[in-house]
Amino acid sequence: MPEIAFVNGRFLPWDQATVSIEDRGYQFGDGVYEVIRTYKGVPFELEAHLNRLDRSANELRLLQPYSRSRWIAFIQEGLNLARYQAAKVYIQLTRGVAPRDHAFPPQATPTVVMTIRELIPLNERIREDGVTARTCQDLRWGRCDIKSVNLLANVLAREEAKAAGVFEAILVRDGQVTEGSVSNVMAVRAGTIITAPEGPRILSGVTRTVVLRLARKEGIPVQERYLSLDELYGADEVFLTGTTVEVLAVVRVDGKTINSGRPGPIVSRLSAAWAALSG
Ligand code: PMP
Repeated sequence: MPEIAFVNGRFLPWDQATVSIEDRGYQFGDGVYEVIRTYKGVPFELEAHLNRLDRSANELRLLQPYSRSRWIAFIQEGLNLARYQAAKVYIQLTRGVAPRDHAFPPQATPTVVMTIRELIPLNERIREDGVTARTCQDLRWGRCDIKSVNLLANVLAREEAKAAGVFEAILVRDGQVTEGSVSNVMAVRAGTIITAPEGPRILSGVTRTVVLRLARKEGIPVQERYLSLDELYGADEVFLTGTTVEVLAVVRVDGKTINSGRPGPIVSRLSAAWAALSG
């Protein structure tokens, strides 16, 4: 099956899918993106992802080149071409090509790139046993709610995690847990789920929203507030949420074992609820 590439309204062979060296995404990271996955060929929470793309673009005063229905038609066309059961759709929208100058160019047409690749699911064993994490200083800018392609601080944190042989970097700013380098972070204390509130310090994950909705439906109390590092280490359960990780238990942070060191009852319940919803 082919990997699918799309640039500015055209599906192209992968090696011909290129953008200009003057693209502002390349020059300044002046762009936004989304990652959408499919289950059984159907995009999951497509409207929520496209709403977030609109919001990110609006916040940067970046013009949306396509209507909602056009976006959906392009994504569907790409998925039909790719025919993966589980696919990862990557969409990137930048301010376009213009001579290098920091201020917005007077006229630029946004550049749109989309790729569709097979989504390789996480190893079942990892899911059953949970993963490890380490904390890193959150060095990102003040608008983490915008899903911008400026991911350098996330890249550095992820690299730190990789070098330490752990799965995820949990970001900490001013002593407060914000989120993961590619995920949102939740903890359970005394039966209540605690996770950082929406706002400029986190990306409001589509998975986060769905998981909190599932939790409330299951009667599990939720508190949207920051966790301190000590509260994280001492939590009954810690888990990550995200499009690719879904709901994933964390059993060790900075070498400290979380509770029994096994995925706990609430993450297990939420994983089952997630599987029922997405499967
Ligand atoms: N936070 C960050 C920094 C992320 O990169 C991601 C993954 N896109 C998430 C949270 C989770 O978001 P979502 O559930 O929409 O994938």
